[in-house]
Order: sequence, then C-alpha cells, then structure tokens
Amino acid sequence: MIVFVFACISLYSVERTEYLEKWSSYFTPNNKYNEAIPYYQKAIQEYPEISWFYVFLGFSHIQMSEFPEGIQNLEKAYSMEASESIRDNLAFAYYGYANHLVFKKNKIKESLSYYQKSIDLKNIPIFYNLYGNALRLNGEHEKAYRAFQKSFELDPELLKSTAGAEENFRESLITGLAHLYRDKNYEVLESYANLGRKYLHNRIEILDYLFKVYLDKKDFDSYRKLLNSLEDSGSKWVYAGILSFEESKESEANKFFEKASKSSKSYKIDKKIGDFLNEKIEHLNYSDQMNSPIHIRSVSFHSKSVKKYFKEFPYKQNQKFSPPLRNEFCIFQGEGGKSYHFGLYGHYSYDIGLCEGNSMGEKIYSIGDGKVIKIIIGEKDQPIQSKVDLKARANTIWIQHKNNLISTYSHIKQNSSVLKPGQIIKKGQEIAEIGNSGISAGPHLHFSLIDKSGTTYPVRFSNLKSRSRESPNSESVPNGILKESEIYTPDP
Ligand SMILES: [Zn+2]
Repeated sequence: MIVFVFACISLYSVERTEYLEKWSSYFTPNNKYNEAIPYYQKAIQEYPEISWFYVFLGFSHIQMSEFPEGIQNLEKAYSMEASESIRDNLAFAYYGYANHLVFKKNKIKESLSYYQKSIDLKNIPIFYNLYGNALRLNGEHEKAYRAFQKSFELDPELLKSTAGAEENFRESLITGLAHLYRDKNYEVLESYANLGRKYLHNRIEILDYLFKVYLDKKDFDSYRKLLNSLEDSGSKWVYAGILSFEESKESEANKFFEKASKSSKSYKIDKKIGDFLNEKIEHLNYSDQMNSPIHIRSVSFHSKSVKKYFKEFPYKQNQKFSPPLRNEFCIFQGEGGKSYHFGLYGHYSYDIGLCEGNSMGEKIYSIGDGKVIKIIIGEKDQPIQSKVDLKARANTIWIQHKNNLISTYSHIKQNSSVLKPGQIIKKGQEIAEIGNSGISAGPHLHFSLIDKSGTTYPVRFSNLKSRSRESPNSESVPNGILKESEIYTPDP
C-alpha cells in the first residue's frame, strides 16, 4: 500500500559533485538505501548548503520505513529550496507515512495530520481517497464524505483506475450513511448518498437510506421520484408498499408487499417487510402488539423469509442433542410462534416448561458438550402476570458446541447459575433453573440453537419420547421436532 514516487530530479541548480553522481547507484533499481543513508549524511557534513542531499537522505530513510527521519530531512530540503520537485517528494513522504500509520500500525488518528499535510502540498486524488478512508475509520463521516467528493472532482475515473479506491469509498459510504442517519444529519446524508449513486450506481443499500430520510421528513414527492427511478423488482414493491402504508392506504400497501414477496426469491425482501411492519407497532404494549393485525402480517412475512432462507442455505446438521429438562415437559410455544418466535432470529425457538403446575426452579441441563461463552444471571424475575415489561432483560446462558452452533437458555431464575464464561460443560450437566426474568408472562425456558449471527436452527433431540395429549402411548420423537400438541418424556 505504501508507494513513494520519486519524482525525476533535475540537478541543474546544484554544483556537480561526486556525491551527486553516485545517487543512481544507490536508488532504484539497486535499492541500496541502507548504504545511501551514511553516504548522504557524510555529504551533508561536507556540503550542508546543498538541498538535494537532504532530499536523497530523506528519500532513503523513507524507503527504509524510517518515516520521521525521512520527513525531517525532506522538510529541511523544502525549507532551503521550495521547488516543485522537492515539494512533490515531501508530499509523497507525508502520504506514505500516513498510509504506514493506518495500514501497518493501525494508528488512524495520528495519520490524519499527515494526510492533511500531503494534501496541503499537492492535490492528488488518491491522497484524498485515502484521507477519506482514514477519516471514516476515525468515525469522521462528514469529513470523509468531503474528502471523497474532492477525490472524484479531481479524477472522476479514480474508482476504476486505482486498486482499493472503490472498496474504501463503498465501505466509507455504507458506514457513513448509517452514522449520518443515526445522527439525523440528513443534509450531509443526502449529498453523500447522491455521491454514492453517482459513482457506485443505484445500489439498494444506498437508496435505502434516502428512502428512510424522505419518510422521516415526510417528503413523499422526493420519495415517489426516487421510487419511480427504480426498475421493477422486489425492492421496488417493498418501497412502494411502505409509501402506501405511510399514506394510510393499508390495503394498497398489502398488495405491494405481496407482489414484492412473490417477485423475489430472496429472504431479505420478506424480512424487510416483516421488520417494517413490526417497527410500526413497537410502541404498543405487549397484548396489543400480539393482537394487532399488523403484527400478525409481520409474522407471516417473517415466516416466509425463514422458509426462503433455508431454501437458499439448506441446513444439513444431524447433530443430536439431549433435552434441556429431565422431567416430563410441554412446549407452550414452538416454531414460528407469534410471541417473538418469528424471523430468522426467533423462528426455531421453543418455550418449554412443566405440563402442569409452576415451572419456577425446575432444573435446566446443557443439551451437549460445550463451553460457556456468555452468561447474564443478575436480572430479577418478573411477577407472574399477563402484562409483561417490554424493557426487561432475561437472564440467559450461551453454550458453544461443535459445528459453530450455540445453545441458548433464557428467562432463567436470578442467580440460579454459578457458571462462568470459558467454563467447559458436559452434556447433561445441570446449568441453571427455570425462572421468569425478561419479557415473560410466566416461568418457562425459552430455548434455541443459533449460529454466530443469531440465526435459529431446528434442534434435534435424541433420548426423547413423546405422546399426544390425548393418547397414553409414548413414541420416539421423529426428527426431534417439538410440537405444542405433545407431552415429552426425556429418556436418559
Ligand atoms: Zn420464547
């Protein structure tokens, strides 16, 4: 990443000396910079008035990644002779040092003043591009935007002609837009997004922020204009649906959402609709949320998204686990249940408890060998009631198993576990007790098997028998899929 361009040196202004004649034997293609350093130190002792000796010395230091020494000598040379070629060398030295600080040392903050100095000396598009990248890494998204803008003004072809430039800009843009949106800095966000549209084309992750801004500002005209500029696609119908919804035309919105879902195989489209609808009722209390038709529709889109997801990324895990309870248990809410068991991060969740009576204090066991990766245990248990506290946090244990799967146990009883992160756990080891912490209307275990992203997976249990609530005969559970209609008996 560090490129130092040595400008062609003209020696017209300097007396020819043996020192000057030798520089080419040290520099490219011979690259003997470590020998050049003492050589030019000696030259400076003899001829301290010749600026180019400082340039050669500085340049040699830079080539050896001795940036502060290199810069010091080049600055000295520039103070003696403010020529264009010395200035160029100094500019590239600042730029090289700044890159070194960012890419080799991860000292982002320190790099900024060196990028600034390089830019002050010379308007080179890639200087601005890398400065923009460093500003982004330092969280200064507004300044980053201005640096990128400047780089494109100077060279509209920069993204195509320079390796890494497009990636820097794209990453800066996406993180920048997220921050600007969070800070409600809409004016800069709009100009940044439009810069992105111009140079990275109409990418949906950029447009998404523009649509959000227009909605927040209730600027439906701009929204509609942007919408009309899109080609027909799942995304277009989602945004069209959102607009209708915001304009209180719900049945029209539903038609667009259905059209979006049908026109796209991507789970992301359905998830986006589900998330949008869900957001619309977040302010309601728990029972109003659950009974809202908007919620029910959001659950159905989330379920579709899960189906599409597993079609796209089939789950072929045959690992079998041992049930988390030892006593006979029932499933109060299983896969795709409307109370938070929907969407990729909730679908394959199971609310487990004793079939009759109070499950409070019932022992929970690890479903497999693994390692505790996180534990929350100090949260208080909620009183048993139907009005749940939507802000309450659940005590939860996360245990990492083979194949990057993690089992999670939630709503556990306050201080009912002494496990510590990093602790190795055996299959069937007692880990905690059922409680009622978090968003929970009564004591139960919310259980799911997830990956690092939080996506839930179907779990398969061995040594588990089931019978329907009507029939007394137990059978082994086929595929380990847990149903609300069954009574389960662990069979260790
Ligand atoms: Zn649950």
